[in-house]
Amino acid sequence: MRTRLIIGNWKMHGDVAGNARRLDHLSAHAPRGVQIAVCPPYPFLAQCADRLRGSGIAVGAQDVSAHPGGAHTGDVSASMLAEFDCRYVLVGHSERRIDHHESDATIAHKVALAVGAGLRPVVCVGETLAERDGGRTAPVVAGQLVGALAQLAPAQLERIVVAYEPVWAIGTGQTATPEMAQAVHAMIRARLAALDPAAAASVPLLYGGSMKPANAAALLAMPDIDGGLIGSASLEPQDFIAIARAAAGTQEAAVV
Ligand code: PEP
Repeated sequence: MRTRLIIGNWKMHGDVAGNARRLDHLSAHAPRGVQIAVCPPYPFLAQCADRLRGSGIAVGAQDVSAHPGGAHTGDVSASMLAEFDCRYVLVGHSERRIDHHESDATIAHKVALAVGAGLRPVVCVGETLAERDGGRTAPVVAGQLVGALAQLAPAQLERIVVAYEPVWAIGTGQTATPEMAQAVHAMIRARLAALDPAAAASVPLLYGGSMKPANAAALLAMPDIDGGLIGSASLEPQDFIAIARAAAGTQEAAVV
């Protein structure tokens, strides 16, 4: 059975006092039966790792350098993230692809370095609205996926997580319907199966794009949607816990 996985992407939000309150709420209310992780900005990684120790909630980073180390001002290497207790790292988020012009080749370097350092890269893929309207969702997403994995050996594929995040759904309040998301997830799993059937069966596929407590259960009921990558709703601890409960199959009302 695949891990149910809910990851919060805090983006460039947070401060020490607010983080502490959010983390304590998550620790107190995290349901069993689902792996939860939070990805804060770099300066808060140590705070999150310390505060979450023993809670079962993991920590991840939002990006990693495409270089192993050296003279790269502003970069943070995969081995540094591993030393700071990161288990996951987002790679190829559409905001990085757009804001920092990240190419598939750069993303492939990051994925390989993350796996080499013992991290689980969360490979983010997704089409723009123009690409969807042009009927190009499958080739665009498959191209990003294959590009990101270009430097991995088949035996390393089981180390990754894939997040399907339609760009038009991120931070917009517009969500893919469960059927739309499932169709892309099934295509992603088939592409992974062509590379390594065992990895395809075990790699968690997350949906991201305005996932909220109100739509999480329907999305997570789809056979190839194993969890979620959550942006805005991860900043509201009650909402994030409600989504985690939906993933765990324990649908009690959100705790306050
Ligand atoms: C994201 O940025 O990864 C994301 C899914 O954001 P939101 O949930 O706000 O759409």
